[in-house]
Amino acid sequence: MKRDGNCESLWQHETPDFKASAAAIPDKVFDALIVGGGITGITTALLLQKAGLSCILAEAKSIGFGTSGGTTAHLNTFFDTPYSKVINNFGEDNAQLLAKGAAAVMDLIQQLIKEHDIDCSFEKRQGYIFSINKEQNDQLDELVSSGKKMGLPIAFVSNSPFPIPYLKIASVAGQAQFNPGLSCDGYKRGPSIGSRNVARSYTGG
Ligand SMILES: Cc1cc2nc3c(=O)[nH]c(=O)nc-3n(C[C@H](O)[C@H](O)[C@H](O)COP(=O)(O)OP(=O)(O)OC[C@H]3O[C@@H](n4cnc5c(N)ncnc54)[C@H](O)[C@@H]3O)c2cc1C
Repeated sequence: MKRDGNCESLWQHETPDFKASAAAIPDKVFDALIVGGGITGITTALLLQKAGLSCILAEAKSIGFGTSGGTTAHLNTFFDTPYSKVINNFGEDNAQLLAKGAAAVMDLIQQLIKEHDIDCSFEKRQGYIFSINKEQNDQLDELVSSGKKMGLPIAFVSNSPFPIPYLKIASVAGQAQFNPGLSCDGYKRGPSIGSRNVARSYTGG
């Protein structure tokens, strides 16, 4: 798989290079044009097709070329922005909605991988978050207490499974990991995909 960026991704050599077939862009009108073949575009294409729409996906380089081909590969039901901040900015109901959405996305990814038999090393895992200084201790306290408020199975623990020094450590159940390159590759079935097609403008809509 070809990628942008200067750093090599752990996943890129395990993922075959994407090759669009010669007949990738048939002369027909599609219900939807999706721009970008990262995890967002390729999932959207899969879901729209499940809903009965015909799709064409335009990717400037190749599937997984952007950020999706180089992520840290973990799937979480919490975010870099802690739920405490979401509650402060948007209220508890909306934070609750976000938490429900995160759980639903985890289920959806698992379901799509199973349904399409995508061999991308998806595995449910226990997640860990730790602090290494006083400031991070406070952030972790907030992350754990607001996570609990959202019904997240998160709690402080006394042991870490990895040999990294920490001050405090919390564990959260129901997280997952997968190979994002292979997952993008597996999701690509179905839509007509044009690689090296840059969307430059649109009209109407
Ligand atoms: C270092 C790092 C680690 C991360 N780790 C995680 C993680 O562990 N878990 C997690 O959930 N999230 C993680 N993220 C965030 C996650 O990777 C991104 O949110 C996600 O991959 C974005 O996917 P995307 O499909 O929206 O964008 P991309 O994957 O960037 O896809 C966009 C695609 O659009 C194409 N494109 C752009 N413009 C055009 C155009 N005009 N015409 C045609 N094609 C175009 C690009 O070539 C590209 O392939 C991480 C991000 C980074 C940077």
